[in-house]
Amino acid sequence: MKLLEGKTALITGASRGIGKEIALKFAAQGANIAFSDLAYDDNAKSLEAEIEALGLKAKGYASDASSFDGGEALINAVMDEFGRIDILVNNAGITRDNLLMRMTEADWDLVIKVNLKSVFNLTKAVQKVMLKQRSGSIINMSSVVGVNGNAGQSNYSASKAGLIGFTKSIAQELGSRNVRCNAIAPGFIETDMTAKLPEDVKKEWIKTIPLRRSGQAEDVANIAIFLASDLSGYVTGQVISVCGGMSM
Ligand code: NAP
Repeated sequence: MKLLEGKTALITGASRGIGKEIALKFAAQGANIAFSDLAYDDNAKSLEAEIEALGLKAKGYASDASSFDGGEALINAVMDEFGRIDILVNNAGITRDNLLMRMTEADWDLVIKVNLKSVFNLTKAVQKVMLKQRSGSIINMSSVVGVNGNAGQSNYSASKAGLIGFTKSIAQELGSRNVRCNAIAPGFIETDMTAKLPEDVKKEWIKTIPLRRSGQAEDVANIAIFLASDLSGYVTGQVISVCGGMSM
């Protein structure tokens, strides 16, 4: 029996990077997959095809996670198509890095809206579904910099720290109905997001990581499987770091 057999997962921001790997790993464990991205493009179509080839249901949706009405519409559309949502992964996220003295109000607002408000939007919309089902697992993608801070990322760190407070509050609100809410705090994971960092910065980071390597999207997806599955049935309100020991 696969770990996510018969479950339906919705993953935001999933046509590349960590979200895509989570979608593929969940499907390999038997889950039907709904996923969203800003656009329904060739990446989304090929992800759908890859999952359908496993004999599972997959559907991509163009949906801006930072839109409140868009979040509600997405949950309704997934319910119409799949009939249930067992797992929500709030993965969509962006960076607009700069030192505070150079950070614009627009870059502050955008990062908070995409990384933090999106999690409110989707979680609020899915809670009705999960409360009715009397089961569900919500996984929020935080970051080690949400725990430790990082110079040049005050907007991003604040959004990821806010998400931890949100996760712990929702775990308390929904726990009595068997709906769990946890966060993952990845460290330095190789995706398009980190590809834009200068090579010397990456090398310096790796020196500080006890396991002496960057992480792969797969490392994060493996923890997401655990949190999505019944293996973590007694785990809620927690933040699990996937960072090679970078944050202790
Ligand atoms: P990525 O490669 O840049 O992918 C981000 C994904 O989010 C893309 O599919 C993007 O869609 C989507 N997205 C962006 N804004 C969106 C919006 N408003 N609505 C819906 N989708 C949106 O990033 P990643 O490295 O995989 O990161 C995934 C998550 O992990 C993020 O929350 C990030 O903050 C977090 N994280 C990453 C690292 C790391 O080292 N990589 C470390 C800690 C935490 P488009 O293709 O349409 O742009």
